[in-house]
Amino acid sequence: MTYTPAPLSAAQLDTNDPLAAFRQEFHIPPGPDGRPCAYFCGNSLGLQPKAARAAVEQEFEAWERLGVEGHFHGTSPWMHYHETLAAASAHLVGARPLEVVVMNSLTVNLHLLLVSFYRPTATRYKILMEGGAFPSDQYAIESQARLHSLDPADVIVELLPRPGEHTLRTGDIEATIQELGDSLATVLIGGVNYYTGQAFDMAAITRAGHAVGALVGFDLAHAAGNLELNLHDWDVDFACWCSYKYLNSGPGGTSGVFVHERFAQRPDLVRLAGWWGHDPSDRFQMKKGFRPMPGAAGWQLSNAQIFPMAIHRASLEIVERAGGMAALRRKSEQLTAYLETLIRGLGLPTTQLEIITPPDPAQRGCQLSVLVHQRGRELFNFLAGRGIIADWREPNVIRLAPVPLYNSFEDVSRVGEALARFFTEE
Ligand SMILES: *Cc1c(COP(=O)(O)O)cnc(C)c1O
Repeated sequence: MTYTPAPLSAAQLDTNDPLAAFRQEFHIPPGPDGRPCAYFCGNSLGLQPKAARAAVEQEFEAWERLGVEGHFHGTSPWMHYHETLAAASAHLVGARPLEVVVMNSLTVNLHLLLVSFYRPTATRYKILMEGGAFPSDQYAIESQARLHSLDPADVIVELLPRPGEHTLRTGDIEATIQELGDSLATVLIGGVNYYTGQAFDMAAITRAGHAVGALVGFDLAHAAGNLELNLHDWDVDFACWCSYKYLNSGPGGTSGVFVHERFAQRPDLVRLAGWWGHDPSDRFQMKKGFRPMPGAAGWQLSNAQIFPMAIHRASLEIVERAGGMAALRRKSEQLTAYLETLIRGLGLPTTQLEIITPPDPAQRGCQLSVLVHQRGRELFNFLAGRGIIADWREPNVIRLAPVPLYNSFEDVSRVGEALARFFTEE
């Protein structure tokens, strides 16, 4: 007789979790019964770190006490504030500090990067993206085509799953890139698709793009703070991400940008310029003639937005203290696998309920997207009534994103129990 150990209970898994204490560092909103909710919307808006308020207070205090002198004095002078984010941002995405900068918000940065990294010519002018990309990315790319007086329908090539499939195959992406060949100017794909939760093989896509002479960038909105990234080693040309999803830096929070080191000393690259990207040695001489700073910093436009950056800094500090993305990812894979086990354990036919996120952990982050073929909205409301905050995407997908910093295995087991109850009460 073979001995199969009983699966560990949620409580045991929480006891064994080396990151369990980090949950205490976040404000968990109350559910309808007053207990903390089981929050699975970190892919949309991460929860508030308790340290965020003090970080902002510190800057209020500096402003109150120092006025304009806060640029040069105080605990963290504003002149150099954004520089204090570079090391942690570099760790976060696997980059050198020179390759990253924090500024603006995500869609703004997408545009700034496309201005430099989408330079269509008469023959090389196509952009490859995922079909069903996040709408802001679609609009950004359409309008970039128009900026060059090109027809978006002629410029944009969308990657679509094979019939009957929900996600893309890496081999198909590579084949499309090869087919496009020297008509392909730029590849811009989400690191993780917001809808399906599929994580793409960014190294393979970058290799394939470079092999045909294209530039390759990623929108990491759903990847930053979710996956271990190695943008430098993967040789990615450019990338950007927001800070308010998996990076818990508050609604509309600031954004991060990556530009590969090989472009660090390329003042000739076309870009939209502003004084904060100018060589700081004579920034205040207010002279004509833009000379960009080396690296990603040379894409900055405006002086730093201190308040959102203060929250972001507090948040990045938590990620660093937790052991960085390697540590977060270890727990994340376990949490998501646990959720997957509970959902599959219901034994429902795929005609009723289907996980469209890939089962392979290498091809997903923490999110599972569940296609609910009947009574989806009703199920979503049932979960909400039990203090389980998921999100609903038309026409019938429930996205659940257990995140390693503040979700517990107990949170995940609440979903399992609620689903079991919903489907047995039928
Ligand atoms: C969340 C998200 C955005 C949002 O862009 P903002 O400029 O921050 O409003 C854009 N693209 C993707 C892929 C996203 O997931």
